[in-house]
Amino acid sequence: EEKRSLNFIEAIVEKDLQEGKDGGRLQTRFPPEPNGYLHIGHAKAICMNFGLAQQYGGVCNLRFDDTNPVKEDVEYVDAIQEDIQWLGYDWANVYYASDYFQQLWDFAILLIKEGKAYIDEQSAEEIAKQKGTPTQAGTESPYRNRPIEENLDLFRKMNEGLLAEGSMVLRAKIDMASPNMHFRDPIIYRIIKQAHHRTGNQWNAYPMYDFAHGQCDYFEGVTHSICTLEFVVHRPLYDWFIDQLADGDYRPHQYEFNRLNLTYTMMSKRKLLQLVKENLVQGWDDPRMPTICGFRRRGYTPESIHNFIDRIGYTKYDGVIDVALLEYAVREDLNKRATRASVVLDPVKLILTNYPDGEIEKLRAQNNPEDEQSGSHEVLFSKELFIEREDFMEDAPKKYFRLTPGQEVRLKNAYIVKCTGCKRDDDGNVVEVYAEYDSETKSGMAESNRKVKGTIHWVSTQDAIDVDVRLYDRLFTVENPGDDKDRDFREFLNPDSLIIKTGCKAESFLKDAKPLDNYQFQRIGYFNVDPDSTDSHLIFNRTVTLKDSWSK
Ligand code: ATP
Ligand code: MG
Ligand code: MG
Repeated sequence: EEKRSLNFIEAIVEKDLQEGKDGGRLQTRFPPEPNGYLHIGHAKAICMNFGLAQQYGGVCNLRFDDTNPVKEDVEYVDAIQEDIQWLGYDWANVYYASDYFQQLWDFAILLIKEGKAYIDEQSAEEIAKQKGTPTQAGTESPYRNRPIEENLDLFRKMNEGLLAEGSMVLRAKIDMASPNMHFRDPIIYRIIKQAHHRTGNQWNAYPMYDFAHGQCDYFEGVTHSICTLEFVVHRPLYDWFIDQLADGDYRPHQYEFNRLNLTYTMMSKRKLLQLVKENLVQGWDDPRMPTICGFRRRGYTPESIHNFIDRIGYTKYDGVIDVALLEYAVREDLNKRATRASVVLDPVKLILTNYPDGEIEKLRAQNNPEDEQSGSHEVLFSKELFIEREDFMEDAPKKYFRLTPGQEVRLKNAYIVKCTGCKRDDDGNVVEVYAEYDSETKSGMAESNRKVKGTIHWVSTQDAIDVDVRLYDRLFTVENPGDDKDRDFREFLNPDSLIIKTGCKAESFLKDAKPLDNYQFQRIGYFNVDPDSTDSHLIFNRTVTLKDSWSK
């Protein structure tokens, strides 16, 4: 494969390594907050951080950014690890921001002692009001010049568990007139009286993201701290804290790339949690969710996600990627790896009136025409078959190349048959379709090359097994479900995002299919086995249709 050009972060890393910066070391981290499951946007950050370490012989750690006990849980910690490994990556170490609570506390004490932090007893609203605007300086807090000893005393009290949440905060004392709003005495500690999933009730004062992230990078020895563009405006503050902390040459640097946004997709963890909690989907791994575990259950492969991420690349400009590109990536990957099988979703019987009663032929079906090594499997052929109801039409238009009286079609891997008619019930529904087969046209025989316009799939009634099929479609009906500020994103849920088909007929070869196995159902699409399946009852998920059916 042709080598793609370096993205801008790879270019920075190569230059830094060449110049021997930080002793020629590369260290990155992937820093999820364990407050939800990972989504496809996180996959982009994962590929960047772990990918760089792999590519340049560096180290990438997994760091749980667990500074807010209100929303965090071990369930998420476990799921995040499973998902990263499924994507094919492993971390050098697992760290937690909470591992550094003592060091962060000590650093806060140092700032107070240096007169660079103070306890503010105003409410969050008052503090916000005093922030000013980008063109107008903020107002200094009346507590800004509190004596150091008093600040130290109150800061300790903040952590003792006797004060109410919101009664006071610790603020860095920087510059209330700075053009960068993040410099206007940012809050760095607040009181949260809730057990933490790792440190329990040890702490009542918790550091804010901006006070924790860069310092954790520093404590760990991160060289390139890579995040998304919304943190560009936080970078000066990131650097300011490092300035106060660093002694010596080493310091971490923050770099930002464009986050992944996808059409027809919601990627905010808060809203994804809402979908789960309100049972609007069946869980974090519902195949309609944009989560890594959702894509896994849907039949996506790690390779398809890597190919997609590679293709969209990393830039410094935000934009929205067409979800069709992701669907293209999985289609392309499954085309190479998915075994072909026949499944009839909406069955009606086809009877070959001139085929001998009771005879059963064993035919061969190629497993994957895209892969010569993939071999073939046996399929049974008999007088009575199941075909798709929509593959027969009594009064068909000219361009209908399927079964209609007088017309020939090829039965995939078997014979050419000519339709002779059908039988209807009292309500007019077709209950049986009739055809005659041409015994000289079996696949492989000379006559089988005869030109017929249509090929349809089928399953013998002799060995067909009943399966359920879940037809998944996009979860939202609009391109940007999160964009409309006046309307709730739930109004845009697609009512047809899941259609369940029962009583589908599958060729018996599928009996041995195992959860998550990928297949291409002839003419229909890519499917995989849902883990809800049992040995006696298989359930398939539609991963993606064969072709892009959404016209633009
Ligand atoms: P959300 O805002 O949905 O809660 P988050 O960014 O707060 O997401 P984190 O757990 O903090 O979620 O994210 C971990 C890392 O993944 C961060 O470095 C973040 O920048 C990155 N990330 C999150 N979402 C995306 C995205 N859509 N595209 C690229 N990277 C992302
Ligand atoms: Mg975050
Ligand atoms: Mg967030």
